[in-house]
Amino acid sequence: MKTQTVLIVEDENDIRELLAFNLRREGFSVLETGDGREALSLAAGKKPDVILLDIMLPGLDGLGVSRELQREPGTSAIPVIMLTAKGEEVDRIVGLELGAADYVVKPFSVREVILRIRSVLRRSAAPPETLPLHCGPVTLDVAEHAVRVAGAPVDLTITEFRLLEDLLRHKGKVRSREQLLNAVWGYSFEGYARTVDTHVRRLRAKVGGEAAEGIETVRGVGYRARDDRGCA
Ligand code: CA
Repeated sequence: MKTQTVLIVEDENDIRELLAFNLRREGFSVLETGDGREALSLAAGKKPDVILLDIMLPGLDGLGVSRELQREPGTSAIPVIMLTAKGEEVDRIVGLELGAADYVVKPFSVREVILRIRSVLRRSAAPPETLPLHCGPVTLDVAEHAVRVAGAPVDLTITEFRLLEDLLRHKGKVRSREQLLNAVWGYSFEGYARTVDTHVRRLRAKVGGEAAEGIETVRGVGYRARDDRGCA
């Protein structure tokens, strides 16, 4: 099995070294930094399998780093585990607004962190790109370029298809209009945010009913494929 790489972003040397030492002992390859900006370039350049991200960092803090990681197509799929002090912004992290896969509250045991890492890596072990995506009554078959709702074929435009595919691939996670523009249209331009809304409206009308309700509007942010409906 391929060695998995963990990027540790933590400015407190003792904590970072403790994590790095133990993760290496567990067989992980480890990248470390105490600086948010450097974390972004390491993430983009080295493509770690998971990022441990402390919230309290000098300069660009963990929330800012997380936002940037989400914004960049090259890093948006890397799962992030937030390290946080008690009471620190936990609601926002857990609300997935920032796309964090999980969080660990300080002081933590190294064992707990390693368990979380393994669990996140298991979840993110992406199925082959060609496997059909299911969510509630919706099946999207990338290989056949076909969408069915409760078994009945639905005729989507290429844009609607890619929009639905992106939402299903990130099920349970909020996708901002900007991310959707980047992923589906290949560019991001502020004036085009309404384009996303228009296409989501058409997509909902075509899939209808329960499937339409599965595409949730997240006020002020974007859209999310609800994952509480038997998505797989
Ligand atoms: Ca810190």
